[in-house]
Amino acid sequence: MKYDQARWTDDGDDRYEPLLSEKANETVEIEDAALPDDLTRDSLTLPDPAEPELARHYTRLSQMNYGVESGPFPLGSCTMKYNPSFTEDVAARPDAAIHPDRPDATVQGTLALCHRLQDYLGRIGGMDAVTLQPPAGAAGEFTGIEIAKAYHEANDEERREVVIPDSAHGTNFATAAMAGYEVVELPSDDDGRVDTEALAAAVGDDTAALMLTNPNTLGLFERDIEEIADLVHDAGGLLYYDGANLNALLGRARPGDMGFDVMHYNVHKTFATPHGGGGPGAGPVGVREGLARFLPNPHVRERDGNYEYYEPEASIGKVHGFYGNWPVLVKAFAYIARLGDAGLRDASAKAVLNANYLAEQIDYDVPFGPFHHEFVASAGEQDAADAAKRMLDYGVHPPTTKWPEIVDEALMTEPTEGETKRSLDQLAAAFDAVAAEDDETLAAAPSRPAARRIDQVSAARNPRLSWQALDDA
Ligand SMILES: *Cc1c(COP(=O)(O)O)cnc(C)c1O
Repeated sequence: MKYDQARWTDDGDDRYEPLLSEKANETVEIEDAALPDDLTRDSLTLPDPAEPELARHYTRLSQMNYGVESGPFPLGSCTMKYNPSFTEDVAARPDAAIHPDRPDATVQGTLALCHRLQDYLGRIGGMDAVTLQPPAGAAGEFTGIEIAKAYHEANDEERREVVIPDSAHGTNFATAAMAGYEVVELPSDDDGRVDTEALAAAVGDDTAALMLTNPNTLGLFERDIEEIADLVHDAGGLLYYDGANLNALLGRARPGDMGFDVMHYNVHKTFATPHGGGGPGAGPVGVREGLARFLPNPHVRERDGNYEYYEPEASIGKVHGFYGNWPVLVKAFAYIARLGDAGLRDASAKAVLNANYLAEQIDYDVPFGPFHHEFVASAGEQDAADAAKRMLDYGVHPPTTKWPEIVDEALMTEPTEGETKRSLDQLAAAFDAVAAEDDETLAAAPSRPAARRIDQVSAARNPRLSWQALDDA
């Protein structure tokens, strides 16, 4: 099966939804403006669509995109799961919209929700205290590593290194560098896990922390986690848990029980809140008891039946304005409360089952296993990025490509727990159709989405974020 995305077609290659200003304009005369002359103009042309034109314009734009509501979206590590829309209803309630500067006594319900979410997340992760402040996983990492730094400084220790496995997410390396640490990269062993001998050699008096994802980015559980924790702790370092893959363990195993001291939760990966283009998300951070005094300011606590904000005694300071990304947190709360213990356990079971089912169906080789909620297939002789582009022509979003580098031409695939057997079979059919195609076909793909190949490097290095900027260039 192939699939065509909504788009305008004409003779040339320019296929885009016209701007509103190209379709419907009205020029407004500007009369006296009480501003300096060089800041004023005589007239201004504004789009002037009727309501149906406006609604259709934005509907078409949304159809030119691909999202979790368009079809399967197995982007490994990112966990692009379907977000049940009841959480949107809860976050949109009028009593969820509060001014952030209101006195504590007038927002007791809001603070109670924060307090309960802190408690839920603490129990899920096996952590003693949780801050809801950081606005993303990466921001959670930075907060967590700043807490580790504050802890070592409070012990009068100057430790300069953070150890990170080579399979880790790029944000781990960036976090350590931003926090002023030197990164010590740890090679994986032949099974794709932490090489404990290499770890023993890498840790020492300079080790501030080891950052670890478990299951790791190959979907593999770090079986030696207790030995790993001992090695790091014996050297005086802390163990940091990158929570991006927590959906594989929900209700079954807890980072706190494995020996982790600090962790972040990606609520947009584990608890069904939207990712958004780089945000707004939320990356709450959990810590062991001895680290709670370093949490960011403000933090929510309960006293004599009342809830209040306060500044932890040795706080690392502010990591976000006001109370974090509040509506996102409300959605995560609603999701956890609706699912309950049994539902969360069920989510991790299905995430793992779906990944294992899909891996069995596809023709591509999967070199490492047994894996949990995601797997990394190898595109073999094909270029993984070309294969991914081609998958778009079959109506599915491609997996993450070329990472982790331990697998040649990696196709890092995470179907998520929300997919049915039918949609997993649709995904498998797309993988297999692409696996059978030649390089020429792959290199010319995609032909059926609204946009063909974009220049990804220029888009990242030289972004033009407005029509004006494009015009000026
Ligand atoms: C997504 C991800 C991150 C970063 O989280 P964001 O919420 O996207 O900032 C960190 N580590 C891993 C393994 C991830 O997959």
